[in-house]
Amino acid sequence: MSDAPTYDFVVIGAGSAGVRAARIAASLGARVAIVESSAYGGTCVNLGCIPKKLLVYASEFPEACHIASSYGFRVRGVEHDFAALIANKNREIARLNGVYERLLRNAGVEIVDGLARFVDPHTLEVGERRLRGEQILIATGGEPYRLHVPGNHLGITSNEVFFLEERPRSVVLVGSGYIALEFAMMFRGLGAETHLVFRADRVLRGFDSDIRDAITRELVHRGVELHPGAEIQEFREVDGETAVVAKHREIRAELLVHATGRRPLVAPLALENAGVEVDEDGFIRVDESLRTSVPHIYAAGDVVGRAPLTPVALAEGMYVARRLFGGEPRPVDYELIPTAVFTTPPIATVGLTEEQARERGHELRIFMSTFRPLKLTLTDSESRTTMKLVVDAKTDRVLGCHMVGADAPEIIQGLAVAMQAGATKAHFDRTLGIHPTAAEEFVTMREPVR
Ligand code: FAD
Ligand code: NDP
Repeated sequence: MSDAPTYDFVVIGAGSAGVRAARIAASLGARVAIVESSAYGGTCVNLGCIPKKLLVYASEFPEACHIASSYGFRVRGVEHDFAALIANKNREIARLNGVYERLLRNAGVEIVDGLARFVDPHTLEVGERRLRGEQILIATGGEPYRLHVPGNHLGITSNEVFFLEERPRSVVLVGSGYIALEFAMMFRGLGAETHLVFRADRVLRGFDSDIRDAITRELVHRGVELHPGAEIQEFREVDGETAVVAKHREIRAELLVHATGRRPLVAPLALENAGVEVDEDGFIRVDESLRTSVPHIYAAGDVVGRAPLTPVALAEGMYVARRLFGGEPRPVDYELIPTAVFTTPPIATVGLTEEQARERGHELRIFMSTFRPLKLTLTDSESRTTMKLVVDAKTDRVLGCHMVGADAPEIIQGLAVAMQAGATKAHFDRTLGIHPTAAEEFVTMREPVR
């Protein structure tokens, strides 16, 4: 289309990856347009990290009130207004949408509202408009996936949880990954009867075994009902409730939440018009420089699916922009991705699990500590903190740090820096603790448990 305005860089999707790439490219002098079909900021800001963490904070107050009684407070008649929580959350998210819009406009990025689809490898159609990009970035993220079984239209996904009008009396969540666990703890913390139905024998496949066991104990201790090994056959409405029908059992609740993973959001893009290839799961195929099968088209973030986390999307977006328009492109280090699951207590981890380290042939020394956090010693809480270090026996390098316990994400973030710097167990041993903290345990574990 000769009449379509031409940009140096057109970014599709104003989420974590897209906004970062557009801003960096514009700051490096490129003429940039960004297309967004929904709210600025993408999943993380609108339907993910931020609203999720606000709801998790909310869900921790009842326990805090309970603990307060052991510290001499008499807490009476605490009531929760769920609608007020959602309204306050919505106000904050609307504010953030405005912040993102201003960030883009102040950087000189042109914002185009609407759904983009390829007309040809350089041209996109957005409603009535067409725009041409010398270089294009696909950063369209993902969407929730529901199991292909009868009745899968029943219930909601994480997207809708953020807009519930009231707290459900009972909830059944399907899945045992990040979203299932975070939302299960959130609903339970707010007082709902909560069930977790999943196919594996243990929650959080891929995490370190000791961490999986530790969080399982916490789930049970907080009253989340676990239904492992479930072969789900259908979802059904029964007496005003929704039932998850699995082989040999049926679990009913007022609200069903699907938390069975996410899929790349590519269907509206008409990728065939551009010749961009996807893999068997729909993720966009890219090379190590995030370039797709079409040389001037790149992809970043969840739509690539290497590690669907915001900091990874940000780093990938930044890498593409710098690679194309100058600056120093720093390839993303996929080996050392710190990550957290915002359960109560939270989980955080960086580096290899014990299982991964063994698979890679490392000879290991395992350090682990499980203890009652000081804050809970005056209470009847059975919650425990677990910390674990996976150390290469030959080189003394710390290969993995794992934790379940209060402030785990804040603590592991610091240890991720140490691991980037190649820390050994001797470095940990030489480091003085800060007393009294839980974190000091990471530098005082002397004897390996294995
Ligand atoms: P997105 O942020 O999804 O952005 C894609 C954008 O593209 C969207 O705004 C979409 O509307 C737009 N779009 C799609 N198709 C088109 C089109 N054809 N035309 C125009 N626009 C289009 N990660 C963490 O690191 N920490 C967390 O605590 C965390 N919590 C999460 C909780 C939940 C419930 C969920 C669902 C995710 C969470 N994540 C978390 C993951 C994180 O949100 C994603 O990894 C991140 O948002 C990916 O960024 P992205 O730019 O790839 O995609
Ligand atoms: P996850 O990949 O974490 O978990 C998916 C769950 O669905 C697993 O329990 C998986 O089971 C189950 N599942 C998938 N397919 C099937 C199937 N066919 N039958 C039965 N069960 C199935 O995805 P989430 O949806 O929880 O989250 C998506 C991504 O978003 C996460 O991977 C994470 O990267 C990101 N995220 C990050 C957060 C954070 O950083 N705190 C929070 C929320 C999301 P199985 O284990 O057996 O494979």
